Amino acid sequence: MQIIDGKKISEELKSAIALEVSGLNSKPGLAVILVGDNAASKVYVNNKEKGCQEVGFNSIKINRDENTTEKELLQLIQDLNNDETIDGILVQLPLPNHIDTKKVIEAIDPIKDVDGFHKENMGRLLQNNPTLRPCTPRGVMTMLEKSNINPSGLDAVVIGASNIVGRPMAIELLNAGATVTICHSKTQDLPGKVKSADIVVAAVGIPRFVQADWLKKGSIVIDVGINRLETGELVGDVDFDQAKDVVNAITPVPGGVGPMTIATLLENTLLAHKYRNKL
Ligand code: NAD
Repeated sequence: MQIIDGKKISEELKSAIALEVSGLNSKPGLAVILVGDNAASKVYVNNKEKGCQEVGFNSIKINRDENTTEKELLQLIQDLNNDETIDGILVQLPLPNHIDTKKVIEAIDPIKDVDGFHKENMGRLLQNNPTLRPCTPRGVMTMLEKSNINPSGLDAVVIGASNIVGRPMAIELLNAGATVTICHSKTQDLPGKVKSADIVVAAVGIPRFVQADWLKKGSIVIDVGINRLETGELVGDVDFDQAKDVVNAITPVPGGVGPMTIATLLENTLLAHKYRNKL
């Protein structure tokens, strides 16, 4: 049984990025925008900034208060779209309710959309012609690759169909040759569907939701979930302690998909820098 070490793989990826950056004439630049003071968002934004420092990027963190209007935010994005020193623009989600998230994402120049959420980048992924790909699903694909797991010809079940994880994850697996079933809150007989899968990706947001006896013996389990229990403990969407005795490979939480998401954001920012400078 293999525990897929996302921390280690992400460190390797960051080292490779840092090495490439050290040979560039100009440094990639990432702008991260945080509106309001959501505690979890603050942690994510700080980690992204830390990641930029580790690989030698220029990063700017832009904090706007909760009452920022949609118009002001759209103007800020426009300014960053026109800023030659900025390669990547990331708006930390969720945004306050009075701001239309879709409008904000669509305002980002697709070539600077390092989260990969713009309809142009999502559309390209859907057509199997991707450029900037959503970070978490792309990070999962890197983990599989680095663990010598080829999804081609395998049956995959993705639990969760959100725009940021489940949907693009399913398309990534399809593009890699897997036969994919997408499950969600209205899916009937979820355990039966999971039982048929060689690869299971859980992106639900319910602590220890996926039970060991749902899993096929020898399957590969990728746990995207990050759930904080009342005790303060961080757990995934899979019952890791039981599942590890059934599977061939599994990602832990923490130390699995989480670090890969940030490393992939850095990878996307470097890619955007190269696209923009025609390198
Ligand atoms: P979301 O709430 O937007 O989507 C959850 C999905 O799960 C929905 O499609 C919903 O239909 C499905 N679902 C809910 N209850 C279900 C049930 N009983 N049976 C089957 N499906 C069910 O969440 P999200 O943004 O996709 O995030 C999912 C999880 O992944 C969360 O724990 C989040 O914190 C985590 N996450 C982790 C990373 C990372 O870097 N590791 C990145 C993004 C999100």
